[in-house]
Amino acid sequence: MTITIGKIFDLTVEKYPNKEALYDVKKNLRFTFKEWSLEVNKLANAFLLEGVKKGDIVSTYLFNTEELATVFFACAKIGAIFNPINFRLMSEEVAYILTDAQPKIVIYEKMLEAGICPITTRFPQTSFLAIDGDVPSYAASYKEKVSAAPISELKTEIHEDDVYAIMYTSGTTGRPKGVVHRHREMVEQSLICISATKLDKNDNGLVIAPMFHCAELHVAFLPRVHVGAKSTILHHFDPKIVLQLINDEKITKFFAAPTMWNMLLQENLEVYQLESLKLGLYGAAPMAPTLVKACREKLGIQLVQAYGMTEMGPAISFLTEDDQIRKAGSAGQACLNHEIRIVRPREDGPSEPNDIVPIGESGEIIVKGPCMMSGYYNRTEATKNALYRGWYYSGDIGYLDDEGYLWVKDRVDDMIISGGENIYPREVEDVLYTHSGVLDVAVIGQPDDQWGETVTAFVVKKDQSLSEKDLDDCCKNSMELANYKRPRKYIFCDVLPRNASGKIQKFMLRKQLEELF
Ligand code: ATP
Repeated sequence: MTITIGKIFDLTVEKYPNKEALYDVKKNLRFTFKEWSLEVNKLANAFLLEGVKKGDIVSTYLFNTEELATVFFACAKIGAIFNPINFRLMSEEVAYILTDAQPKIVIYEKMLEAGICPITTRFPQTSFLAIDGDVPSYAASYKEKVSAAPISELKTEIHEDDVYAIMYTSGTTGRPKGVVHRHREMVEQSLICISATKLDKNDNGLVIAPMFHCAELHVAFLPRVHVGAKSTILHHFDPKIVLQLINDEKITKFFAAPTMWNMLLQENLEVYQLESLKLGLYGAAPMAPTLVKACREKLGIQLVQAYGMTEMGPAISFLTEDDQIRKAGSAGQACLNHEIRIVRPREDGPSEPNDIVPIGESGEIIVKGPCMMSGYYNRTEATKNALYRGWYYSGDIGYLDDEGYLWVKDRVDDMIISGGENIYPREVEDVLYTHSGVLDVAVIGQPDDQWGETVTAFVVKKDQSLSEKDLDDCCKNSMELANYKRPRKYIFCDVLPRNASGKIQKFMLRKQLEELF
C-alpha cells in the first residue's frame, strides 16, 4: 500500500469518525474527523473545478486557521503541491515567493489583505480566494467555491514519491528558499515525531506556533492527525489565551518557539489549571538552558527539544526529557533512521562527508535520513551546495560528544572571529541570559580594524535599571566565558527582529549596526 499524506488522513477518519479532530478558537468551530473529511473533500473537489491538476501549486497566506489545515489535506488528496506562505511577510516578500512558485491558487484572509492587494495584477495566471470579509474585485470567495463543490471521494492516484509541498525556509540568513518535499518524506517525519513525543489518540494538542512553518506543521500537527489526536488551533499567539486554552481544553502537549515559552512564563501562572499539560516541545531556534529549567520548574512539565531545518523535514535530533538536565544545552541524539556527522568546516564548498573531525571538535553538521528534501525549487546551484554525496550540509556548526549527543554552537555565517579566535555568539548569549534583568539578547560581530571583529550584544531589558556594567560584571564573573569573548559594546533596544519561527534575524542587526556606527 502506498502511504501518502492523504492516505494518513483517510485512515484516521475511518478509524475515529466521531472523535473530535479540530477546534478553531477564533471561529468557535469544532469538527469531528468525519465532519472535517467532508470539508477536505469539498475543497479538493473545488480545486479540481478551478482547474487545479496534480503537480499544480496551491499557496496559502493565512494565520493559523481551520482553512489552512483543510487546504493541507485537500492538496494532498489531489496531488496538488501545498505551499504555505509566512503570514508575517510584506507584499513584496510575498511577491518574491509567488514569482518563484507561480501558484495556480492563493488562499488568503482579510486581515492579510495588505500583503496581497498591491501585487495581484502581477500574477494574471493565479486565482486569489478570500476566506472571509468582503471579496474584492481581484478575488473570489473561498466559501462560495467550496459550497458549490461535491463531497464525493477523490480518485486521483498519488504516489509516495510525488511532491507534496514546497515550504519556504525562514529567511533567517537572507531570501527564503523553496524546499521541495515528497509524501514519503513527511510520512516518515510524522512517524519519527509520534515516537519522540509519545503521542497517542488521547492527546490534546494546541497549535500556537505558525502552521506555515514545518516545526509546527510536521513535528506537531501532522503527527496528531496521524494518531487521531485533537488539535486546538489558535489564530495567533497570545500568552493569556494560550494558558486559558490549556485550562479549558485540557491540553496535553504542544510545540512552542523559545520566545513563546519565555512569554508564557512572564504571566501569572497561578490563576490557571495547567495539570493536564504533560509535555512541551521546543526548538526551531536555540533556547537558553536557564529558560528550559524555568519551564520545567514553573510549568511542571516534561520537555523535548527538536533540532532541525526545513530541508530535513525538519527534525534531525531530539533531546528527550531524561536528558534535559544531564545534557542541558545539547540538541540531543539523532532521530530514528538518521545519521549525523561533523565534518571539517566548509571553505569554498562542502567538505567531503568522510572528512570527519574528531569527537568533541567543532565542524559543520551534516546529516542523512529518510526525510531529506529533494532539493530547492528553481535553485540548482543552492541545491548542489546543500546536498552533496547523499548528505545535507546544514550550515550549522556543532560537535558530537563521546555519547553521540549533538551540541549546536552556531551558524557558520554567524561565527565571530576576533583576534584569530573563534567565538560562537550562542555561548555569550547563554551567559547574558543568566542575568535576571535580561529579557532577550542577540550577539553579533562588529568589524574592527585591530581585532577583525569584536563582540557586540543587543539587549532587551526586563529590569529597566539594568546597566552595561551589570552585564559586563555578569560576563566577568562567569566561569564559562573567556575574557576575549566578553561583549565590548552593549546596545539596548525595545525588541529584537525575529522571523515568524521566533529566530533572531542577525543580518538585520548587522545592518542596524552599520547604520549606527
Ligand atoms: P534560511 O535558510 O532561509 O536562512 P532558516 O535556516 O532559519 O532560514 P529554518 O529551516 O527555519 O530556516 O531553520 C533551520 C535552522 O534553525 C537550523 O539550521 C538551526 O540554525 C536553527 N535551529 C533549529 N532548531 C534549533 C535548535 N533546537 N537549537 C538551535 N538552533 C536550531
